[in-house]
Amino acid sequence: MKIKQIHIKKNQVKSWIEIFKNPCPVTIETFVTGTVDINRRGTINTEHPDAGYMKDEVLNVPIKNYLVRHNELGDFLLDAGLDKSYTDDPKGSIKGDPVDEFYQNQNQNIKFQLESRKIKPKAVYLSHLHPDHIAGIRELPKNIPYFVGKGELEQYQQEKSGYFLDSVETIYEIDFSKLDEIPPLSHCADLLGDGSLWAVFTPGHSMGHCSYLINGVEGPIFLTMDACFIMDNLRLKIAPSDYTWDIEMAQNSLDMILKFLKAFPKVKVICGHE
Ligand SMILES: [Zn+2]
Repeated sequence: MKIKQIHIKKNQVKSWIEIFKNPCPVTIETFVTGTVDINRRGTINTEHPDAGYMKDEVLNVPIKNYLVRHNELGDFLLDAGLDKSYTDDPKGSIKGDPVDEFYQNQNQNIKFQLESRKIKPKAVYLSHLHPDHIAGIRELPKNIPYFVGKGELEQYQQEKSGYFLDSVETIYEIDFSKLDEIPPLSHCADLLGDGSLWAVFTPGHSMGHCSYLINGVEGPIFLTMDACFIMDNLRLKIAPSDYTWDIEMAQNSLDMILKFLKAFPKVKVICGHE
């Protein structure tokens, strides 16, 4: 695997008002490649001063990734979901302990869903490197570019998380610190260069975590990815604490997203696991 730094051209436009004036021919579709059990305590940080009483409750939530379809530029994947190793084995054939367990129905794996519709993504953009977001890479083409926020590879523990990136030819790191902030959001990358698809730096869940914004003609959509697991994180204004690298930073990222959604109520928001 080669690791390269990608130079993303800075967009001339510096405000969301301007960006939303130029919607692009781009739509998204959601894939569900399995489910995972998470506990409500931890999905919402119980230590937060506003958390109050949080009941102990197991939530079975979807494992999602997305397909961005651009009329002129083609198809792109946001995260990879799960490969078919999980259909018969919740550990996805990863040995050792502790390994996250996921559930999957027959033909729910990412490759099946793409191939049955003859979809060939041109690139894969990864929000972060947790198994439920990248295990599917094992059955995706390796000769297309993969992108990830700087910091993720540094944190990636393949012994624990699986050797999912092993045969990927080239992974490109996006250094958000070199990109402009677009308030109220922080550093943003104009991934396709036409203002249609943006990666937004939202660290905390992991070191280089990013969320995405799709600026389509049907209205802008903000995909929080794991900066926000479920709608209750937004409703209660409390970030998750489970599976989280830096809880305070995760809360800051959630606060930033809330500020953005308040400023732009027409933006539709979709949480990472709901
Ligand atoms: Zn995650």
